[in-house]
Amino acid sequence: MKRIAIIGGGIAGLSAAFYLEKARQSGAALQWMLFEKSERLGGVIRTEQRDGFVLEAGPDSFLSAKPEAARLCKELGIDGQLISSNDAGRKTYILVKGRLVPIPQGLEFMVPTRIWPMATTPLFSFTTKWRMAGELFSSARKNAEDESVGEFVRRHFGQEMVDRVAEPLLAGVYGGNAERLSIRAVLPRFAEMEREHGSLVRATLQAKARARTLARPGAKPQPLFTSLRNGMQQMVDALLGTLPQASIHLQQQDLSLRKINDDWEIESAGIRERFQAVLLAVPAPSAAGLLRQFHPGLIEGLEKIQYTSSVAVALAYDQANLPPGHGFLVPRSEGRRMMACTFVHMKFPYRAPEGKKMLRCFFSSSRMPDLLMHSDEALQQMARQELKEILDLNAEPLFARTFRWDRAMAQYETGHLDRVAEMEKIVAAMPGFHIIGNSFHGIGVPDCIKSARLAVEQITSGVSQPAAV
Ligand SMILES: Cc1cc2nc3c(=O)[nH]c(=O)nc-3n(C[C@H](O)[C@H](O)[C@H](O)COP(=O)(O)OP(=O)(O)OC[C@H]3O[C@@H](n4cnc5c(N)ncnc54)[C@H](O)[C@@H]3O)c2cc1C
Repeated sequence: MKRIAIIGGGIAGLSAAFYLEKARQSGAALQWMLFEKSERLGGVIRTEQRDGFVLEAGPDSFLSAKPEAARLCKELGIDGQLISSNDAGRKTYILVKGRLVPIPQGLEFMVPTRIWPMATTPLFSFTTKWRMAGELFSSARKNAEDESVGEFVRRHFGQEMVDRVAEPLLAGVYGGNAERLSIRAVLPRFAEMEREHGSLVRATLQAKARARTLARPGAKPQPLFTSLRNGMQQMVDALLGTLPQASIHLQQQDLSLRKINDDWEIESAGIRERFQAVLLAVPAPSAAGLLRQFHPGLIEGLEKIQYTSSVAVALAYDQANLPPGHGFLVPRSEGRRMMACTFVHMKFPYRAPEGKKMLRCFFSSSRMPDLLMHSDEALQQMARQELKEILDLNAEPLFARTFRWDRAMAQYETGHLDRVAEMEKIVAAMPGFHIIGNSFHGIGVPDCIKSARLAVEQITSGVSQPAAV
């Protein structure tokens, strides 16, 4: 009987438990136990319901283009609860010199694909527009070394595209800094496009033409984001519904991990157990802490993965006069503290009672190093003051709620993939040991689920299965 320990009960740890439990119920000779530090499961996924509003404390959705999360929902029998982002009403603004300017149609992340909207948008100066046209003639860079997203975008489209598009878009996703994030780790598709085509504009136009020829006539386009009708917590609740409670141990604050011959020993809150495999599903700094006595190279690599802290302030309104769209992003150069604001009731259905509005303002320690020192009330005040200045929103909210996350958002900085490759070599020489979750190969919910599924596949491939009848 193979015994497996999962440390960490966020979406990665819970998905691992789900796939292990599924294998066990199909007859695989294994047992698993999950150890979670806090008093609740789900990690940064948490939804609250209040007066008919749905409040997401952490992620509000996942990218539909990455199939792992929707696939898990299907396996959990909750695919009927999946909802699509309202892409028809999708319009995102960038704050430029205090004014909200819509991202022009045809700008695919930072790559312009349509002439007229680019020519007429006030988002870019004439110099940047001229550069966009010239980008068509770019050739691939000789040097294959990793670089920051900022450097990469600057080479192709100039500084204004970094300041007004790449930096705020990335800040909205990673809560990070485009001058530090790695292009190869964070936007691998763009690095590949450059390698193959030189020009990103040419590569994107060709990919779009190919997609048009391959599209089935009449097929509905995939929504950009997918969520769940009652919020992301539904996924956590459905996972918990499939797992035996006796295998889950909460409030394991002082867990220690030791290697004993070929086994792993866990000691925590009066429990001392031996395991043949360990799945570490905690953020990299916690993983480094647990691995103190192990390979120093691994700890050094884990400690190099920086995490930013973030705060989401949810504000519910009875009435609010807002521009049409899904929200706005605030470039660093605007000198504000808010990074982004989502008009939640516009992005997804079922998020607010009919006619009411819900805004979610996002702050990060990458822009406010003292972020978590501020009280909930001070952060709400800050959000309201900036909304007043940006949107002229003076209405009194029905209620406000602040969610804070201490070092929860992994930053894949330049050189990340090389450091991960080194760490994975070390991990490969530690049989039965796996690192899953958001430290290595993607911070999105689907990436974390995928990391869990792949690790479980490796573990169960070495476990005896019931004989076929
Ligand atoms: C504010 C915010 C918004 C986000 N928005 C999106 C989004 O819209 N879409 C998207 O796809 N992704 C989003 N992400 C990213 C994504 O949600 C996370 O990367 C993902 O959920 C992480 O899951 P995880 O299981 O790896 O880690 P976590 O959710 O961090 O879970 C780790 C768990 O390990 C526990 N733990 C830590 N140390 C120990 C220890 N020593 N012993 C035992 N347990 C321990 C923690 O208590 C926690 O429960 C967002 C993240 C944040 C913070």
